[in-house]
Amino acid sequence: MKNIGIDIGGTFIKAAIVESKGKIVLSSKTPTPKTGADIPQKVIEMIDDLLQKAGVNISEIKSVGIGVPGVCDTKKGTIVNCPNIEGCKNIAICDYVSEKFNVKAYIDNDANCAALGEYTVSDIKSDSFVFVTLGTGVGGGIILGGRLLRGINSAAGEVGHIVIKQDGERCNCGRRGCWERYASVTALVRQARAAGFTGHVSGRSIFADKAKGNKKADEVIKKWLEYVAEGICDMVNIFQPDEIVIGGGISREGDIILDPVKAFADKYSIKDTNSPRNTQIRISKLFNDAGVVGASFLYTQN
Ligand SMILES: [Zn+2]
Repeated sequence: MKNIGIDIGGTFIKAAIVESKGKIVLSSKTPTPKTGADIPQKVIEMIDDLLQKAGVNISEIKSVGIGVPGVCDTKKGTIVNCPNIEGCKNIAICDYVSEKFNVKAYIDNDANCAALGEYTVSDIKSDSFVFVTLGTGVGGGIILGGRLLRGINSAAGEVGHIVIKQDGERCNCGRRGCWERYASVTALVRQARAAGFTGHVSGRSIFADKAKGNKKADEVIKKWLEYVAEGICDMVNIFQPDEIVIGGGISREGDIILDPVKAFADKYSIKDTNSPRNTQIRISKLFNDAGVVGASFLYTQN
């Protein structure tokens, strides 16, 4: 049985037909409409187009899952508000899709979808799981007892806004010292600039400089990874999950990120030294596809 995942972003909408183990049959991507009101129709067109190109009949599709970059009502199947897309408010997108195709449709925020995607394709049979994504900010999703932790307005798991430095840098959320002000890729770039890097600086360029043996880049990354590790260690202590997955484009750097974070968490997390079981920390498998694959699995949560 196949499902369709839709990942609505501020810039692009991605759509994919996904098999039950998470393999993408066919995917597509199109610019997000200028106004939110046009999104449901665009999603319908993308689904029609995918089915046609893949030669898949709608009767083979069990459900459609939709991830959105904002607040949604998972019970009503509506987008409540996506602040980064104009006019993207109070849209009954699940009703629209399910009436059009006569399939069940589900919705959740994009970070929860990404968490669910990584959770579902994991090699570990876990029931407690934390996903952390390092990007413009630091996002996340939490799965406990096999269920997405949604919270009262489907926005639980906002791990980027735990405070790691009181009176630290000001965050968009209104507080100071949030983890994402130190551990996001945006923060890494800011830290590199403060260390004297000029011109076009990106997460990728800093890692490339480090790979070329640049000492300053090495120091900046070392410090940034300490910030990343502080928060990951908090996740271990709070949830003691079976697994923590680090995602976002920067996670493609792999062991350069993973090794120091694991060493830090291993040193400082609270554990039973008699127990051989520890939280496994790994890098994302799905990278940019986590959202669209996870959206296709939303039916497992409803
Ligand atoms: Zn914050």
